[in-house]
Formats: sequence, structure tokens, C-alpha cells
Amino acid sequence: MLVFTFGKKMPFGRWLLDLIFPRDCFVCQRPLDAQHPGFLCDSCFGQIVFPRGSVCSCCGRAMETESLGSNSGEISTDASARTWCCSNCVELQPFFRQGISLFAFTNVGRAFIHTLKYRHGTYLKKDLRRILEHEKSRLLDLQGSTFVPVPLHFFRQWKRGYNQSEWIAKALVACIGGKIAPILRRNRFTPSQTSLTRSERKQNVKGAFSLHMMKKVNPHAMYVLVDDVFTTGATLNACAQVLYEHGAQNIRVFTLAHG
Ligand SMILES: [Zn+2]
Ligand SMILES: [Zn+2]
Repeated sequence: MLVFTFGKKMPFGRWLLDLIFPRDCFVCQRPLDAQHPGFLCDSCFGQIVFPRGSVCSCCGRAMETESLGSNSGEISTDASARTWCCSNCVELQPFFRQGISLFAFTNVGRAFIHTLKYRHGTYLKKDLRRILEHEKSRLLDLQGSTFVPVPLHFFRQWKRGYNQSEWIAKALVACIGGKIAPILRRNRFTPSQTSLTRSERKQNVKGAFSLHMMKKVNPHAMYVLVDDVFTTGATLNACAQVLYEHGAQNIRVFTLAHG
């Protein structure tokens, strides 16, 4: 098959598309070079805050945001495998064992999530792929997992046109392998969690999820619940509880950002 190329690597079609519809960075609006993948410039990419050093083993939150000596709890006494859990997770009493959160919910990180959720941001596919590749060494433990997107209520998904958690799960599988299992369903419409307190969030999602009819949980599989942001963890924990009560023994969570 004959493939037209322009320059070193750029397909002719892509060059033509960029000529007709030049791309700007979705954060700072600066024009992007035609060779640049995606919609996030290098300068804005460099402002994403990735956690380095100690993180909470349950939710992936960077520990420097919290004093280890205050309300945080030690969840393992094994000196060879000392793991720490932040005060939020101690209070949460999670049904999941471990969690990874890729970046802080600040500045560019927040803009990424807001665009993804509220501005039809699925066009940021290449930018997410770039973020995942950048943090790939932190994801290797999740290789080959069964990724379970946190479900949206069908009305919200219809209105949005997609489930952002499923979109994130697909990118994860493309990056590190594994499979997607949308085995959970949302039983009722729940108001957005964003303006609710911690206890209201917990109450809001209580009993909101269940296992899809005809779906089963494999007790030997490693399940990774996928969501966009970890705030109090109430939603993820409600989902984890459903998997746990159906026999899942190894449940983890993955979120793009930590609020
Ligand atoms: Zn930019
Ligand atoms: Zn935590």
C-alpha cells in the first residue's frame, strides 16, 4: 500500500489536517508545532505535579501534603514492608488494598480532568498516553489486571456521551496490558459529589452500586477500580465493597488525579 508522508514521520493527511485546523494547547492556548502530538504543550506538561517520594499506599496521595505524625496511621507493622496510610484512608477503612494516583489535582492536572469530564475532552487521548508513558514505572504492578471502570448512571453517560473512567481504563490497557471488565452498574442517580462533605459523600453513594446481572467476580483476579479523581474515596470504596462482597480478594484502585 502506498503511504504518502510529509517530512520525516508525519503522514500527509495529518499535515493537511493541521494546516486546516491548527492545534493550540488546551491549557495555555499557545499554538502547537505541527509535529507535536496531542493538545498539551511541553511547558504545560511540565507543570503537572507527579508525586515523588512517599505516597499513601491506599490512595496514592503524596505524603508531603500531610504530617505523618498527626492523624495518619501505620497499617503494616512488618519492618520489611512498612506501608503508610493517610488519615483519610484510615477513616475510610477501604475495601481495596492499594491505590495509585498519577498526579495532583492542581493547575494543569485539574484542567486536564475538567476538560475530560465537562468539555468533551476525549480528544486528549494522545496526551493521556504521554502521561501514562511518563509514569509507566509506577504502573507496572498493575500489568495484566482486570480494570473495572466506575460506572456512571445511564442518564449522565447518555448526556456526556461517554464514561471518562472507561476511557481512562482503555488507555491503561493500551499502555500496560490487561482487560476491561465493566461489571458494575450504578443503581440510582446520585448528585455530583463535588459540593458534598465527607459524610454526605459516603451517604450519597451508599448502596448506589451493584454487580451487573449475569456477571461474576473471579476471586483470583486482581481487580483495579478506575476513576478520574480520588477525593475522599467514598465512591471507589462503595464499588470496592460490591466486588469484595462477591468474593474479590485482591482489589486496587487507580485514579488520574488526587484531590
Ligand atoms: Zn500549554
Ligand atoms: Zn490515602
